[in-house]
Amino acid sequence: MMIDPLHDRRHILVAEDSPINQQLAIGLLQQHGYSVTVVNNGREALGAWRTGRFDAILMDIDMPEMDGLSTARCIRESEADHGNRVPIVAVTSNDNADECLSAGMDAYLAKPLRSDPLRHALAEFFSWNKCDEGSKTARFS
Ligand SMILES: [Mg+2]
Repeated sequence: MMIDPLHDRRHILVAEDSPINQQLAIGLLQQHGYSVTVVNNGREALGAWRTGRFDAILMDIDMPEMDGLSTARCIRESEADHGNRVPIVAVTSNDNADECLSAGMDAYLAKPLRSDPLRHALAEFFSWNKCDEGSKTARFS
């Protein structure tokens, strides 16, 4: 396994079926110093989440196979047995914030994703952002 010089680099799982939105999410997350893995639907997201490698999930709502709401519910039900809780941020084009939160998601962002709201949403979960953000932003900009 390669040694990552950013030893505290966080891994974000992006569940999104649109190639354009996938590229947007990858670009923004990498700018902010995150490592990114993309999956195309909720079923793939469940499989990826089960590896335990991810520090947070960005979850599209409308996806084939399994939508974001069902996926979030399924993750929260599984977590209830283990005690861990992965932060999930809904990314939505609809005004369905309540539905996202009641499905167990922690926050929501409007499409199209924008740099600052995304950074702030994730910073809520990761305390290192507060002190290391400057150096990470510099490194990746
Ligand atoms: Mg979609």
